[in-house]
Amino acid sequence: MDAAATILQHYESIRPGQEEFYKDLHQHPELSHQEHRTAAAVARSLASDGFRVETGIGATGVAAVLGNGPGPTVLLRADMDALPMQERTGAGYASTAVAADSSGAQVPVMHACGHDVHVACLLAASQLLARHREQWSGTLVALFQPAEEAGDGAQSMVEDGLFGRIPAPDVALAQHVLPGPAGSVFTRTGPVYSGADSVRITVYGRGGHGSMPQNTVDPVVLAAMIILRLQTVISRETPPTEPAVLTVGSVQAGSKSNIISDRAVLELNLRTYTEASRDRILEAVRRIVRAECAASGSPSEPDFEIFDSYPLTVNDDAATARVAAAFRSFFGDRAGTLELQTASEDFSDIPRAGKIPYTYWAIGGTDPAAYQAAALAGRLLEDIPANHSPMFLPALQPTLRTGTEALVAAALAWLGTAS
Ligand SMILES: [Zn+2]
Ligand SMILES: [Zn+2]
Repeated sequence: MDAAATILQHYESIRPGQEEFYKDLHQHPELSHQEHRTAAAVARSLASDGFRVETGIGATGVAAVLGNGPGPTVLLRADMDALPMQERTGAGYASTAVAADSSGAQVPVMHACGHDVHVACLLAASQLLARHREQWSGTLVALFQPAEEAGDGAQSMVEDGLFGRIPAPDVALAQHVLPGPAGSVFTRTGPVYSGADSVRITVYGRGGHGSMPQNTVDPVVLAAMIILRLQTVISRETPPTEPAVLTVGSVQAGSKSNIISDRAVLELNLRTYTEASRDRILEAVRRIVRAECAASGSPSEPDFEIFDSYPLTVNDDAATARVAAAFRSFFGDRAGTLELQTASEDFSDIPRAGKIPYTYWAIGGTDPAAYQAAALAGRLLEDIPANHSPMFLPALQPTLRTGTEALVAAALAWLGTAS
């Protein structure tokens, strides 16, 4: 029996504690940059298992180090933050939490992206590896990251000196729970998550009375022309073989039907899979907006502000092959291939800063019977709540078990073979 199978025989001994911890976390979600309670709970637990625990990295980040003899250093990462949403899952342990967001407004809070699963699985994997350290050799770094949903949590840990506080990792590993049969794991080599950028564009008109348009430059008409013309960036300028998404998600202008306002603000979101694609599409957006402003006789140049940027996630070939082989060995035919995701992740900011190979995989979180029924009916999109839905609720098991097993099996693909 290999080390992963040997260690994971002991999963049952930690399962009740993990489930209790997870439910508590689900009921106490914390917004990005506010993960104080979560961070304190994981720090306490890891310290009790003999980890050297570094806290407060990037405000609320935690990195716990367990040196266990010669060998590689493996970094396992989980994100901790929740979303400003009202939970509607009806679960007995549903969240009713409310918190102040970054603008001070009171908002409901929910773990609608499954980061509570990630935390509970990494904590359990760390416990198992610490309590059965005779099975492996090397150094384990368990990293709990804040503010993935804000896009800047990983970077904030890097900027706060993460790499001065942990030994240099040889590989960085992370996972996400997604719609898919619970019990399954999915790997992919190369690009896996898109790069994302949001752009706030302010265009200027000349305000005036709605009855006298000849005296004005109407920014509402200008914004409408821009929105339509931007649809051609993907459909007419981007090769059909190059996946990309451009969505204008917000338009704000004016306050009253008979007033022509003096500006309009558009917010658009862009998803791309190569730097070249990102640069080309952003340049096309600028070109179109400037040209439409000129066509309308806009009195000032438009303003562009890029915000909420996420890096590309491009899995390392060798690291991915190693994890995929470990998964095939442990999970058998429950190990599959992950489809290219249009969502984005900031995890890769950490390995990129440390020049570390990385791979990022997914685990299914949907009750397998419900998933199969929806798949047979051709209703996966309609019937299976996805991440960021108020109905998103991973099946407690075998999701927690599988996420724990995946982390242990993947880590041991490096830490492996002491006996
Ligand atoms: Zn999310
Ligand atoms: Zn997420």
